[in-house]
Amino acid sequence: MEQSSNFIRTIIKQDLESGKRDHVITRFPPEPNGYLHIGHAKSIVINFGLADDFGGKTNLRFDDTNPLKEDQEYVDSIKEDVAWLGYEWDELRYASNYFDEMYKRAVLLIQKGLAYVDELTADEIREYRGTLTEAGKESPYRHRTKEENLDLFERMKNGEFTDGSKVLRAKIDMASPNLNLRDPVLYRVSHTSHHNTGDTWCIYPMYDFAHPLEDAIEGVTHSLCTTEFEDHRPLYDWVVRECEMDMQPQQIEFGRLNITNTVMSKRKLKQLVDENHVDGWDDPRLPTISGMRRRGFTAEAIRDFVKETGVSKGSGTVDSAMLDHFVREDLKLKAPRTMGVLRPLKLVITNYPEDQVEWLDAEVNPENPDMGMRKIPFSREIYIEQEDFMEDPPKKYFRLFPGNEVRLKHAYFVKCENVIKDEDGNVVEIHCTYDPETKSGSGFTGRKVKGTIHWVDAANAIPAEFRLYEPLILDDEADESEDKTFLDHVNQNSLEVINGFIEPNLENIEAQEKLQFFRHGYFNVDPKHSEKGKPVFNRIVSLKSSFKL
Ligand code: ATP
Ligand code: MG
Repeated sequence: MEQSSNFIRTIIKQDLESGKRDHVITRFPPEPNGYLHIGHAKSIVINFGLADDFGGKTNLRFDDTNPLKEDQEYVDSIKEDVAWLGYEWDELRYASNYFDEMYKRAVLLIQKGLAYVDELTADEIREYRGTLTEAGKESPYRHRTKEENLDLFERMKNGEFTDGSKVLRAKIDMASPNLNLRDPVLYRVSHTSHHNTGDTWCIYPMYDFAHPLEDAIEGVTHSLCTTEFEDHRPLYDWVVRECEMDMQPQQIEFGRLNITNTVMSKRKLKQLVDENHVDGWDDPRLPTISGMRRRGFTAEAIRDFVKETGVSKGSGTVDSAMLDHFVREDLKLKAPRTMGVLRPLKLVITNYPEDQVEWLDAEVNPENPDMGMRKIPFSREIYIEQEDFMEDPPKKYFRLFPGNEVRLKHAYFVKCENVIKDEDGNVVEIHCTYDPETKSGSGFTGRKVKGTIHWVDAANAIPAEFRLYEPLILDDEADESEDKTFLDHVNQNSLEVINGFIEPNLENIEAQEKLQFFRHGYFNVDPKHSEKGKPVFNRIVSLKSSFKL
Protein backbone atom coordinates (compact mmCIF):
# COMPACT_ATOMS: atom_id res chain seq x y z
CA MET A 1 0.00 0.00 0.00
CA GLU A 2 1.37 3.40 -1.00
CA GLN A 3 1.79 6.13 1.54
CA SER A 4 -0.25 9.06 0.29
CA SER A 5 1.02 12.61 0.27
CA ASN A 6 1.06 14.59 3.47
CA PHE A 7 2.37 17.86 4.88
CA ILE A 8 5.69 16.39 6.02
CA ARG A 9 6.35 14.92 2.60
CA THR A 10 5.60 18.34 1.12
CA ILE A 11 8.13 20.02 3.43
CA ILE A 12 10.84 17.48 2.60
CA LYS A 13 10.17 17.84 -1.11
CA GLN A 14 10.47 21.62 -0.90
CA ASP A 15 13.68 21.36 1.14
CA LEU A 16 15.24 19.19 -1.55
CA GLU A 17 13.98 21.35 -4.42
CA SER A 18 15.11 24.63 -2.84
CA GLY A 19 18.54 23.21 -2.08
CA LYS A 20 18.11 23.66 1.68
CA ARG A 21 18.97 19.95 1.92
CA ASP A 22 20.61 17.61 -0.54
CA HIS A 23 19.68 14.41 1.27
CA VAL A 24 17.26 13.08 3.90
CA ILE A 25 18.08 11.44 7.23
CA THR A 26 15.38 10.56 9.76
CA ARG A 27 15.50 8.52 12.95
CA PHE A 28 13.18 6.47 15.08
CA PRO A 29 14.17 7.35 18.69
CA PRO A 30 12.45 5.12 21.27
CA GLU A 31 13.35 5.29 24.91
CA PRO A 32 14.07 1.67 26.00
CA ASN A 33 11.70 1.88 28.96
CA GLY A 34 9.00 -0.44 27.62
CA TYR A 35 7.91 -2.48 24.61
CA LEU A 36 6.82 -0.80 21.39
CA HIS A 37 3.10 -0.34 20.74
CA ILE A 38 1.09 0.40 17.64
CA GLY A 39 1.50 4.15 18.23
CA HIS A 40 5.23 3.63 17.78
CA ALA A 41 4.46 1.71 14.60
CA LYS A 42 3.01 4.93 13.25
CA SER A 43 6.24 6.79 14.00
CA ILE A 44 8.24 3.92 12.45
CA VAL A 45 6.17 3.85 9.26
CA ILE A 46 6.43 7.64 8.90
CA ASN A 47 10.16 7.91 9.59
CA PHE A 48 11.29 4.91 7.55
CA GLY A 49 8.66 5.42 4.86
CA LEU A 50 9.49 9.06 4.16
CA ALA A 51 13.27 8.59 4.16
CA ASP A 52 12.85 5.65 1.82
CA ASP A 53 10.69 7.62 -0.61
CA PHE A 54 13.45 10.22 -0.97
CA GLY A 55 16.36 7.78 -1.14
CA GLY A 56 17.35 8.73 2.40
CA LYS A 57 18.37 6.88 5.54
CA THR A 58 16.82 6.14 8.92
CA ASN A 59 18.67 5.40 12.14
CA LEU A 60 17.29 3.39 14.99
CA ARG A 61 18.40 5.37 18.01
CA PHE A 62 17.85 4.42 21.60
CA ASP A 63 17.11 7.58 23.52
CA ASP A 64 18.61 6.11 26.66
CA THR A 65 19.22 9.08 28.92
CA ASN A 66 17.20 7.96 31.96
CA PRO A 67 18.83 4.79 33.37
CA LEU A 68 16.30 4.48 36.19
CA LYS A 69 13.63 3.26 33.79
CA GLU A 70 15.63 1.61 31.05
CA ASP A 71 16.62 -1.98 30.50
CA GLN A 72 18.43 -4.22 28.01
CA GLU A 73 15.27 -6.36 27.69
CA TYR A 74 13.53 -3.35 26.15
CA VAL A 75 16.43 -2.65 23.80
CA ASP A 76 16.27 -6.23 22.51
CA SER A 77 12.50 -6.26 22.10
CA ILE A 78 12.51 -2.94 20.24
CA LYS A 79 15.10 -4.17 17.73
CA GLU A 80 13.10 -7.34 17.19
CA ASP A 81 9.84 -5.44 16.69
CA VAL A 82 11.20 -2.86 14.24
CA ALA A 83 12.75 -5.64 12.15
CA TRP A 84 9.57 -7.71 12.30
CA LEU A 85 7.55 -4.74 11.07
CA GLY A 86 9.74 -4.94 7.98
CA TYR A 87 12.15 -2.04 8.41
CA GLU A 88 15.94 -2.04 8.18
CA TRP A 89 17.69 0.75 10.01
CA ASP A 90 20.73 2.33 8.47
CA GLU A 91 22.66 2.70 11.72
CA LEU A 92 21.99 1.58 15.25
CA ARG A 93 22.78 4.40 17.66
CA TYR A 94 22.60 4.99 21.41
CA ALA A 95 22.16 8.47 22.84
CA SER A 96 24.35 7.29 25.72
CA ASN A 97 27.30 7.02 23.31
CA TYR A 98 27.12 10.80 22.98
CA PHE A 99 27.39 11.56 26.71
CA ASP A 100 30.97 12.90 26.34
CA GLU A 101 29.94 15.16 23.50
CA MET A 102 26.88 16.39 25.39
CA TYR A 103 28.98 17.16 28.44
CA LYS A 104 31.37 19.26 26.34
CA ARG A 105 28.46 21.19 24.84
CA ALA A 106 27.09 21.89 28.31
CA VAL A 107 30.49 23.23 29.34
CA LEU A 108 30.41 25.43 26.24
CA LEU A 109 27.04 26.84 27.34
CA ILE A 110 28.49 27.66 30.77
CA GLN A 111 31.49 29.34 29.17
CA LYS A 112 29.11 31.43 27.06
CA GLY A 113 27.21 32.45 30.18
CA LEU A 114 24.18 30.47 29.03
CA ALA A 115 23.97 27.82 31.76
CA TYR A 116 24.33 27.71 35.53
CA VAL A 117 24.33 25.24 38.40
CA ASP A 118 21.20 25.61 40.51
CA GLU A 119 20.56 24.36 44.01
CA LEU A 120 16.84 24.89 44.27
CA THR A 121 14.88 21.71 44.95
CA ALA A 122 12.66 20.26 42.23
CA ASP A 123 9.61 21.69 44.00
CA GLU A 124 11.15 25.13 44.25
CA ILE A 125 12.11 25.09 40.58
CA ARG A 126 8.51 24.32 39.73
CA GLU A 127 7.28 27.10 42.02
CA TYR A 128 9.76 29.65 40.64
CA ARG A 129 8.78 28.80 37.06
CA GLY A 130 5.55 30.79 37.27
CA THR A 131 2.45 30.13 35.21
CA LEU A 132 1.05 30.93 31.79
CA THR A 133 -0.23 34.25 33.11
CA GLU A 134 2.57 35.00 35.54
CA ALA A 135 6.28 35.49 34.84
CA GLY A 136 8.73 33.23 36.61
CA LYS A 137 11.15 34.24 39.34
CA GLU A 138 14.92 34.04 39.02
CA SER A 139 16.76 31.51 41.13
CA PRO A 140 19.16 33.08 43.65
CA TYR A 141 21.88 30.92 42.05
CA ARG A 142 21.28 32.30 38.56
CA HIS A 143 24.11 34.82 38.66
CA ARG A 144 27.03 32.71 39.75
CA THR A 145 30.29 33.37 37.92
CA LYS A 146 31.34 31.18 35.00
CA GLU A 147 34.27 29.89 37.04
CA GLU A 148 32.01 28.85 39.89
CA ASN A 149 29.61 27.14 37.47
CA LEU A 150 32.40 25.30 35.66
CA ASP A 151 33.79 24.07 38.96
CA LEU A 152 30.40 22.96 40.33
CA PHE A 153 29.39 21.23 37.08
CA GLU A 154 32.66 19.32 37.01
CA ARG A 155 32.14 18.27 40.62
CA MET A 156 28.58 17.19 39.76
CA LYS A 157 30.14 14.94 37.11
CA ASN A 158 32.74 13.67 39.57
CA GLY A 159 30.07 12.44 41.92
CA GLU A 160 30.54 14.91 44.76
CA PHE A 161 26.84 15.68 45.12
CA THR A 162 23.81 13.65 46.02
CA ASP A 163 20.87 12.93 43.72
CA GLY A 164 18.62 15.96 43.36
CA SER A 165 20.91 18.33 45.20
CA LYS A 166 22.06 20.23 42.11
CA VAL A 167 21.05 20.65 38.47
CA LEU A 168 22.48 22.43 35.48
CA ARG A 169 19.99 24.87 33.94
CA ALA A 170 19.99 26.87 30.74
CA LYS A 171 19.94 30.63 31.28
CA ILE A 172 17.31 31.80 28.83
CA ASP A 173 14.39 33.89 30.01
CA MET A 174 12.33 33.50 33.21
CA ALA A 175 9.65 35.76 31.74
CA SER A 176 9.27 33.96 28.41
CA PRO A 177 5.64 33.31 27.42
CA ASN A 178 6.88 29.80 26.55
CA LEU A 179 7.37 27.98 29.85
CA ASN A 180 9.87 25.63 28.23
CA LEU A 181 12.26 28.57 27.85
CA ARG A 182 12.19 29.54 31.53
CA ASP A 183 15.63 28.23 32.32
CA PRO A 184 14.96 24.53 31.60
CA VAL A 185 16.98 21.90 33.44
CA LEU A 186 19.72 20.41 31.24
CA TYR A 187 21.42 17.94 33.60
CA ARG A 188 20.53 16.19 36.83
CA VAL A 189 22.54 14.16 39.33
CA SER A 190 21.59 10.48 39.47
CA HIS A 191 23.88 7.85 40.91
CA THR A 192 22.38 5.10 38.80
CA SER A 193 24.06 2.41 36.76
CA HIS A 194 23.31 2.64 33.03
CA HIS A 195 22.62 -0.37 30.76
CA ASN A 196 25.22 0.89 28.27
CA THR A 197 27.67 3.15 30.12
CA GLY A 198 27.64 1.33 33.47
CA ASP A 199 28.87 3.54 36.32
CA THR A 200 30.81 5.99 34.16
CA TRP A 201 28.27 8.76 34.68
CA CYS A 202 26.35 10.07 37.66
CA ILE A 203 24.88 13.05 35.81
CA TYR A 204 22.42 12.50 33.00
CA PRO A 205 21.11 14.97 30.38
CA MET A 206 17.42 15.85 30.17
CA TYR A 207 15.38 15.03 27.05
CA ASP A 208 15.11 18.63 25.85
CA PHE A 209 18.88 19.06 25.91
CA ALA A 210 19.86 15.60 24.72
CA HIS A 211 17.44 15.06 21.86
CA PRO A 212 18.41 18.02 19.63
CA LEU A 213 22.10 17.22 20.15
CA GLU A 214 21.53 13.56 19.24
CA ASP A 215 19.78 14.62 16.05
CA ALA A 216 22.48 17.13 15.14
CA ILE A 217 25.31 14.67 15.85
CA GLU A 218 23.71 12.12 13.52
CA GLY A 219 23.02 14.69 10.83
CA VAL A 220 19.28 14.12 11.01
CA THR A 221 17.65 16.48 8.53
CA HIS A 222 14.02 16.08 9.58
CA SER A 223 13.34 15.22 13.21
CA LEU A 224 9.77 13.94 13.30
CA CYS A 225 7.95 13.76 16.61
CA THR A 226 4.46 14.02 18.04
CA THR A 227 2.61 17.28 18.65
CA GLU A 228 3.14 17.43 22.41
CA PHE A 229 6.66 18.62 21.53
CA GLU A 230 5.49 21.56 19.44
CA ASP A 231 6.05 24.00 22.34
CA HIS A 232 9.50 22.54 22.86
CA ARG A 233 10.63 23.42 19.35
CA PRO A 234 12.02 26.89 20.28
CA LEU A 235 14.13 25.19 22.94
CA TYR A 236 15.21 22.52 20.45
CA ASP A 237 16.40 25.22 18.09
CA TRP A 238 18.06 27.16 20.93
CA VAL A 239 20.07 24.12 22.03
CA VAL A 240 21.32 23.33 18.54
CA ARG A 241 22.22 26.98 17.87
CA GLU A 242 23.85 27.86 21.19
CA CYS A 243 25.73 24.57 21.39
CA GLU A 244 27.16 25.53 18.00
CA MET A 245 26.34 22.25 16.32
CA ASP A 246 27.44 21.94 12.70
CA MET A 247 24.03 21.22 11.34
CA GLN A 248 20.54 22.32 12.30
CA PRO A 249 17.93 19.54 12.09
CA GLN A 250 14.33 20.62 11.62
CA GLN A 251 11.77 19.36 14.13
CA ILE A 252 8.35 18.65 12.61
CA GLU A 253 5.41 17.46 14.69
CA PHE A 254 2.55 15.14 13.70
CA GLY A 255 -0.55 13.94 15.58
CA ARG A 256 -0.38 10.85 17.77
CA LEU A 257 -2.29 7.72 16.91
CA ASN A 258 -5.03 6.75 19.36
CA ILE A 259 -7.33 3.74 19.02
CA THR A 260 -10.70 3.11 20.66
CA ASN A 261 -10.77 0.78 23.69
CA THR A 262 -6.99 0.80 23.86
CA VAL A 263 -4.43 2.14 26.31
CA MET A 264 -1.46 3.54 24.50
CA SER A 265 0.94 4.83 27.06
CA LYS A 266 4.00 2.91 28.11
CA ARG A 267 3.39 3.86 31.72
CA LYS A 268 -0.07 2.27 31.73
CA LEU A 269 1.04 -0.74 29.70
CA LYS A 270 3.87 -1.32 32.17
CA GLN A 271 1.42 -1.11 35.05
CA LEU A 272 -0.85 -3.72 33.43
CA VAL A 273 2.16 -6.00 33.02
CA ASP A 274 3.77 -5.38 36.41
CA GLU A 275 0.51 -5.87 38.30
CA ASN A 276 -0.28 -9.06 36.38
CA HIS A 277 -3.49 -7.88 34.78
CA VAL A 278 -2.13 -9.47 31.59
CA ASP A 279 0.21 -12.29 30.54
CA GLY A 280 3.35 -10.19 29.94
CA TRP A 281 4.18 -7.43 27.46
CA ASP A 282 3.20 -9.77 24.63
CA ASP A 283 -0.27 -10.53 25.96
CA PRO A 284 -2.48 -10.84 22.84
CA ARG A 285 -4.89 -8.23 24.24
CA LEU A 286 -2.26 -5.50 24.37
CA PRO A 287 -1.59 -3.04 21.54
CA THR A 288 2.12 -3.79 21.84
CA ILE A 289 3.79 -4.96 18.65
CA SER A 290 4.80 -8.20 20.39
CA GLY A 291 1.25 -8.70 21.71
CA MET A 292 -0.29 -8.08 18.32
CA ARG A 293 2.20 -10.47 16.74
CA ARG A 294 1.25 -13.15 19.26
CA ARG A 295 -2.42 -12.47 18.68
CA GLY A 296 -1.77 -13.04 14.97
CA PHE A 297 -1.79 -9.61 13.40
CA THR A 298 0.58 -9.47 10.45
CA ALA A 299 3.22 -6.81 9.87
CA GLU A 300 1.59 -6.04 6.55
CA ALA A 301 -1.81 -5.44 8.17
CA ILE A 302 -0.27 -3.15 10.78
CA ARG A 303 1.62 -1.17 8.15
CA ASP A 304 -1.46 -0.81 5.94
CA PHE A 305 -3.59 0.26 8.88
CA VAL A 306 -1.08 2.89 9.98
CA LYS A 307 -0.76 4.26 6.44
CA GLU A 308 -4.52 4.51 6.16
CA THR A 309 -4.64 6.65 9.33
CA GLY A 310 -2.54 9.22 7.50
CA VAL A 311 -0.21 11.95 8.71
CA SER A 312 -1.63 15.18 10.06
CA LYS A 313 -1.23 17.71 12.84
CA GLY A 314 -4.40 16.60 14.58
CA SER A 315 -4.62 13.47 16.67
CA GLY A 316 -7.94 11.72 16.21
CA THR A 317 -9.00 8.43 17.71
CA VAL A 318 -9.28 5.61 15.21
CA ASP A 319 -11.86 2.82 15.49
CA SER A 320 -10.17 -0.48 16.35
CA ALA A 321 -12.48 -2.09 13.77
CA MET A 322 -10.28 -0.51 11.12
CA LEU A 323 -7.31 -2.53 12.33
CA ASP A 324 -9.44 -5.69 12.16
CA HIS A 325 -10.42 -4.80 8.61
CA PHE A 326 -6.78 -4.73 7.48
CA VAL A 327 -5.86 -8.06 9.03
CA ARG A 328 -8.89 -9.72 7.39
CA GLU A 329 -7.86 -8.20 4.06
CA ASP A 330 -4.32 -9.50 4.47
CA LEU A 331 -5.29 -13.02 5.55
CA LYS A 332 -8.22 -13.54 3.20
CA LEU A 333 -6.18 -15.13 0.44
CA LYS A 334 -3.27 -16.37 2.56
CA ALA A 335 -4.82 -18.25 5.46
CA PRO A 336 -6.01 -21.84 4.87
CA ARG A 337 -9.68 -22.43 5.68
CA THR A 338 -10.41 -25.28 8.01
CA MET A 339 -13.02 -26.53 10.47
CA GLY A 340 -12.73 -26.33 14.22
CA VAL A 341 -15.40 -27.02 16.84
CA LEU A 342 -15.03 -24.69 19.77
CA ARG A 343 -17.80 -26.05 22.03
CA PRO A 344 -18.29 -29.68 21.01
CA LEU A 345 -21.53 -31.66 20.97
CA LYS A 346 -21.43 -35.31 19.86
CA LEU A 347 -23.52 -36.22 16.80
CA VAL A 348 -24.04 -39.90 15.88
CA ILE A 349 -25.13 -40.84 12.35
CA THR A 350 -27.11 -43.94 13.13
CA ASN A 351 -27.42 -45.25 9.56
CA TYR A 352 -23.71 -44.83 8.74
CA PRO A 353 -21.67 -48.09 8.74
CA GLU A 354 -19.86 -48.67 12.05
CA ASP A 355 -16.30 -49.23 10.78
CA GLN A 356 -16.30 -47.00 7.74
CA VAL A 357 -14.12 -43.90 7.31
CA GLU A 358 -14.41 -41.76 4.20
CA TRP A 359 -11.75 -39.24 3.23
CA LEU A 360 -13.55 -36.27 1.78
CA ASP A 361 -12.02 -33.66 -0.53
CA ALA A 362 -12.17 -30.02 0.42
CA GLU A 363 -10.60 -26.86 -0.98
CA VAL A 364 -7.97 -25.27 1.24
CA ASN A 365 -9.18 -21.79 0.32
CA PRO A 366 -12.08 -21.37 -2.12
CA GLU A 367 -11.02 -17.77 -2.78
CA ASN A 368 -7.49 -18.89 -3.68
CA PRO A 369 -7.63 -22.18 -5.64
CA ASP A 370 -3.81 -22.24 -5.88
CA MET A 371 -3.76 -23.39 -2.27
CA GLY A 372 -5.03 -26.79 -3.42
CA MET A 373 -7.12 -29.43 -1.68
CA ARG A 374 -7.12 -31.20 1.65
CA LYS A 375 -8.55 -34.51 2.90
CA ILE A 376 -10.95 -34.66 5.84
CA PRO A 377 -12.05 -37.92 7.51
CA PHE A 378 -15.76 -38.56 7.98
CA SER A 379 -17.33 -41.39 9.99
CA ARG A 380 -20.25 -42.36 12.19
CA GLU A 381 -19.48 -40.03 15.10
CA ILE A 382 -18.61 -36.38 14.72
CA TYR A 383 -18.57 -33.23 16.81
CA ILE A 384 -20.68 -30.23 15.96
CA GLU A 385 -20.96 -26.87 17.68
CA GLN A 386 -23.31 -26.82 20.71
CA GLU A 387 -24.94 -23.66 19.39
CA ASP A 388 -25.79 -25.41 16.11
CA PHE A 389 -28.48 -27.47 17.81
CA MET A 390 -31.61 -26.23 19.57
CA GLU A 391 -34.35 -28.41 20.90
CA ASP A 392 -36.85 -25.60 20.82
CA PRO A 393 -35.68 -23.21 18.13
CA PRO A 394 -37.05 -19.73 17.47
CA LYS A 395 -38.34 -18.83 14.01
CA LYS A 396 -35.65 -18.48 11.35
CA TYR A 397 -33.29 -20.88 13.10
CA PHE A 398 -32.05 -22.97 10.20
CA ARG A 399 -29.59 -25.21 11.96
CA LEU A 400 -30.28 -28.54 13.65
CA PHE A 401 -33.47 -29.19 15.62
CA PRO A 402 -35.62 -32.29 15.92
CA GLY A 403 -36.90 -33.25 12.49
CA ASN A 404 -34.79 -30.68 10.60
CA GLU A 405 -32.17 -31.40 7.96
CA VAL A 406 -28.94 -29.44 7.43
CA ARG A 407 -25.82 -29.73 5.31
CA LEU A 408 -22.59 -30.82 6.96
CA LYS A 409 -19.94 -28.70 5.25
CA HIS A 410 -18.00 -30.75 2.63
CA ALA A 411 -20.05 -33.90 3.54
CA TYR A 412 -23.75 -34.91 3.53
CA PHE A 413 -27.19 -33.78 4.58
CA VAL A 414 -28.10 -35.05 8.04
CA LYS A 415 -31.51 -35.04 9.69
CA CYS A 416 -32.03 -34.84 13.45
CA GLU A 417 -33.99 -37.90 14.62
CA ASN A 418 -33.36 -38.09 18.34
CA VAL A 419 -31.94 -36.15 21.28
CA ILE A 420 -30.07 -37.89 24.12
CA LYS A 421 -30.00 -36.21 27.53
CA ASP A 422 -28.27 -36.85 30.84
CA GLU A 423 -30.08 -37.21 34.19
CA ASP A 424 -30.19 -33.43 34.59
CA GLY A 425 -31.82 -32.92 31.24
CA ASN A 426 -28.75 -31.57 29.45
CA VAL A 427 -28.39 -32.47 25.78
CA VAL A 428 -25.35 -34.76 25.48
CA GLU A 429 -25.77 -36.36 22.07
CA ILE A 430 -27.73 -35.87 18.88
CA HIS A 431 -28.77 -38.82 16.75
CA CYS A 432 -29.16 -38.20 13.04
CA THR A 433 -29.56 -40.11 9.80
CA TYR A 434 -27.69 -39.13 6.66
CA ASP A 435 -28.67 -39.37 3.01
CA PRO A 436 -25.84 -40.90 0.89
CA GLU A 437 -27.30 -39.23 -2.23
CA THR A 438 -26.50 -35.76 -0.93
CA LYS A 439 -22.71 -35.98 -0.87
CA SER A 440 -21.03 -32.64 -1.38
CA GLY A 441 -19.69 -32.23 -4.91
CA SER A 442 -21.90 -35.01 -6.27
CA GLY A 443 -24.18 -32.55 -8.03
CA PHE A 444 -27.21 -33.55 -5.96
CA THR A 445 -30.13 -31.22 -6.62
CA GLY A 446 -33.01 -33.28 -5.22
CA ARG A 447 -33.88 -30.88 -2.39
CA LYS A 448 -32.46 -27.92 -0.58
CA VAL A 449 -31.60 -27.19 3.04
CA LYS A 450 -31.25 -23.77 4.59
CA GLY A 451 -28.42 -24.37 7.05
CA THR A 452 -24.80 -25.46 6.63
CA ILE A 453 -22.84 -26.33 9.76
CA HIS A 454 -19.24 -27.34 10.39
CA TRP A 455 -17.99 -30.43 12.20
CA VAL A 456 -14.95 -32.58 12.90
CA ASP A 457 -14.65 -36.36 12.91
CA ALA A 458 -14.72 -37.55 16.53
CA ALA A 459 -12.30 -40.47 16.21
CA ASN A 460 -9.62 -38.47 14.39
CA ALA A 461 -10.00 -34.95 15.72
CA ILE A 462 -7.13 -33.22 17.53
CA PRO A 463 -7.92 -31.50 20.82
CA ALA A 464 -7.18 -27.78 20.80
CA GLU A 465 -7.55 -24.81 23.08
CA PHE A 466 -9.15 -21.65 21.77
CA ARG A 467 -8.67 -18.22 23.28
CA LEU A 468 -11.30 -15.66 22.44
CA TYR A 469 -10.72 -12.00 23.17
CA GLU A 470 -12.78 -8.93 23.90
CA PRO A 471 -11.33 -5.42 24.28
CA LEU A 472 -9.14 -5.06 27.35
CA ILE A 473 -10.43 -1.57 28.08
CA LEU A 474 -14.17 -1.04 28.26
CA ASP A 475 -14.62 2.69 28.11
CA ASP A 476 -12.69 5.21 26.06
CA GLU A 477 -13.90 8.16 28.06
CA ALA A 478 -12.27 6.61 31.10
CA ASP A 479 -12.86 9.02 33.92
CA GLU A 480 -9.59 9.05 35.78
CA SER A 481 -10.56 11.73 38.24
CA GLU A 482 -12.28 10.99 41.55
CA ASP A 483 -10.08 8.12 42.66
CA LYS A 484 -10.82 6.14 39.50
CA THR A 485 -7.97 5.04 37.28
CA PHE A 486 -7.89 3.31 33.92
CA LEU A 487 -7.60 0.06 35.88
CA ASP A 488 -11.26 0.47 36.85
CA HIS A 489 -12.08 0.16 33.16
CA VAL A 490 -10.22 -3.09 32.58
CA ASN A 491 -12.63 -5.63 31.10
CA GLN A 492 -12.71 -8.63 33.44
CA ASN A 493 -14.10 -10.77 30.60
CA SER A 494 -11.53 -9.89 27.99
CA LEU A 495 -10.26 -13.48 27.72
CA GLU A 496 -12.30 -16.66 27.33
CA VAL A 497 -10.48 -20.00 27.19
CA ILE A 498 -12.36 -22.98 25.75
CA ASN A 499 -11.48 -26.49 24.64
CA GLY A 500 -12.57 -28.07 21.38
CA PHE A 501 -11.36 -30.03 18.37
CA ILE A 502 -9.74 -29.41 15.01
CA GLU A 503 -9.22 -31.37 11.78
CA PRO A 504 -6.50 -34.06 11.98
CA ASN A 505 -4.56 -32.61 9.02
CA LEU A 506 -3.47 -29.82 11.38
CA GLU A 507 -1.37 -32.26 13.39
CA ASN A 508 1.94 -30.57 12.63
CA ILE A 509 0.80 -26.98 12.78
CA GLU A 510 3.53 -24.62 13.98
CA ALA A 511 3.55 -21.59 16.25
CA GLN A 512 2.43 -18.38 14.50
CA GLU A 513 0.61 -20.20 11.67
CA LYS A 514 -2.65 -18.49 10.78
CA LEU A 515 -5.92 -20.16 9.80
CA GLN A 516 -9.50 -19.31 9.17
CA PHE A 517 -11.84 -21.58 11.11
CA PHE A 518 -15.07 -21.79 9.16
CA ARG A 519 -17.64 -19.39 10.68
CA HIS A 520 -15.39 -18.50 13.66
CA GLY A 521 -12.82 -16.17 12.18
CA TYR A 522 -9.06 -15.92 11.85
CA PHE A 523 -6.81 -17.59 14.42
CA ASN A 524 -3.08 -17.74 15.17
CA VAL A 525 -1.17 -20.56 16.86
CA ASP A 526 0.03 -19.12 20.17
CA PRO A 527 3.83 -19.41 20.44
CA LYS A 528 3.88 -19.36 24.24
CA HIS A 529 1.23 -21.86 25.32
CA SER A 530 0.96 -24.34 22.42
CA GLU A 531 2.25 -27.85 22.98
CA LYS A 532 2.92 -30.69 20.58
CA GLY A 533 -0.44 -32.35 19.91
CA LYS A 534 -2.36 -29.59 21.76
CA PRO A 535 -2.18 -26.29 19.93
CA VAL A 536 -3.55 -23.12 21.46
CA PHE A 537 -5.29 -20.79 19.03
CA ASN A 538 -5.66 -17.06 19.59
CA ARG A 539 -8.62 -15.59 17.78
CA ILE A 540 -7.27 -12.61 15.83
CA VAL A 541 -10.65 -11.39 14.57
CA SER A 542 -14.05 -12.82 13.89
CA LEU A 543 -15.41 -12.85 10.33
CA LYS A 544 -18.19 -10.40 10.91
CA SER A 545 -17.64 -6.76 10.28
CA SER A 546 -19.80 -3.72 9.93
CA PHE A 547 -16.71 -1.63 9.26
CA LYS A 548 -16.48 0.25 5.95
CA LEU A 549 -13.44 2.15 4.77
P1 ATP B 1 4.58 6.77 25.64
O1 ATP B 1 3.94 8.09 25.87
O2 ATP B 1 3.63 5.68 25.25
O3 ATP B 1 5.49 6.35 26.76
P2 ATP B 1 6.73 7.93 24.24
O4 ATP B 1 6.52 8.97 23.24
O5 ATP B 1 7.16 8.41 25.56
O6 ATP B 1 5.47 6.98 24.35
P3 ATP B 1 9.15 7.06 23.01
O7 ATP B 1 9.93 5.82 23.23
O8 ATP B 1 9.77 8.35 23.34
O9 ATP B 1 7.79 6.86 23.79
O10 ATP B 1 8.62 7.08 21.52
C1 ATP B 1 9.44 6.97 20.38
C2 ATP B 1 8.79 7.70 19.23
O11 ATP B 1 7.49 7.19 18.97
C3 ATP B 1 8.63 9.17 19.56
O12 ATP B 1 9.08 9.93 18.45
C4 ATP B 1 7.16 9.34 19.78
O13 ATP B 1 6.72 10.61 19.41
C5 ATP B 1 6.56 8.24 18.90
N1 ATP B 1 5.25 7.83 19.41
C6 ATP B 1 4.97 7.34 20.64
N2 ATP B 1 3.65 7.13 20.78
C7 ATP B 1 3.06 7.47 19.60
C8 ATP B 1 1.71 7.47 19.10
N3 ATP B 1 0.69 7.06 19.85
N4 ATP B 1 1.50 7.88 17.83
C9 ATP B 1 2.53 8.28 17.06
N5 ATP B 1 3.82 8.30 17.46
C10 ATP B 1 4.10 7.90 18.71
MG1 MG C 1 8.93 9.96 24.70
